[in-house]
Amino acid sequence: MSRVAYVNGRYLPHGRAMVHIEDRGYQFSDGIYEVCEVRGGRLVDERRHMERLAGSLAALRIPAPMSLPALGVVLRETVRRNRVRDGIVYVQITRGAARRDHAFPAPGTKPALTVTARRLDFARNEAMAAEGIAVITLPDNRWERVDIKSISLLPNVLAKQAAREQGAREAWFVDSQGRITEGASSNAWIVSREGKLLTRALDRRILRGLTRTVLLDVISAQGLKLEERAFTVEEAYAAREAFITSASQIVMPVVRIDGRPVGNGAPGLIATALRRDYHAHAEIA
Ligand code: PMP
Repeated sequence: MSRVAYVNGRYLPHGRAMVHIEDRGYQFSDGIYEVCEVRGGRLVDERRHMERLAGSLAALRIPAPMSLPALGVVLRETVRRNRVRDGIVYVQITRGAARRDHAFPAPGTKPALTVTARRLDFARNEAMAAEGIAVITLPDNRWERVDIKSISLLPNVLAKQAAREQGAREAWFVDSQGRITEGASSNAWIVSREGKLLTRALDRRILRGLTRTVLLDVISAQGLKLEERAFTVEEAYAAREAFITSASQIVMPVVRIDGRPVGNGAPGLIATALRRDYHAHAEIA
């Protein structure tokens, strides 16, 4: 089936969905994005995604291209036109197209809005979760405002590629004190020796992952012990379990860190139970 993308007010065949060469996203990574899970053709946690998107726009002083409810309509229409039942919808907003100059363009320059949707292979994801993934660690060399979901992702791109080249699926960034910040495209979690869940507290060094937010509810519903604090690479090596969270992978068990097996080297019971219960706690509308 042919794919369709939304580009600045029009639904276009995916292969002809273009933005201008002087779009500031292309020139400067001057833009923001959101990725929202689609399940059974419906958006998962749309409200929270819209809130975060509005926050990213405000942080970068990019005007909203349309109201949030109108944007919700575009997201749903893009999902519908692509007949996505289970997958993701991706939205990107840049400061628009203007003659190349680092400072902001003239007021009134229209922000550029693009939306795409695609299916994810549900069975493949489940198979991956049943096996678990490997991660590597590397120094966090990103800027200090990664809490903004900006499209400026070069360190993440290089980290992910390093992971791939070492047979791993994700890279965990490590701050100057030897503590994990987050993954290249996910939040990082461990279950300590004592059975406590650990994930870094929210600060400007991590993205406020929405899967992370919802998982806090699942954790409390399951009566598990949680501590929101940074953990070190050594603690991760010694952990009973480890996993990552993101809208496209939900809870994905980690079974190797830097080549060392986590726990007994198989997906952990807690990670597996959290993955199983996740959607009972998400808002699906
Ligand atoms: N951190 C980073 C750097 C990410 O790119 C993502 C995925 N967009 C996440 C965390 C997880 O966020 P979410 O659960 O909202 O997908």
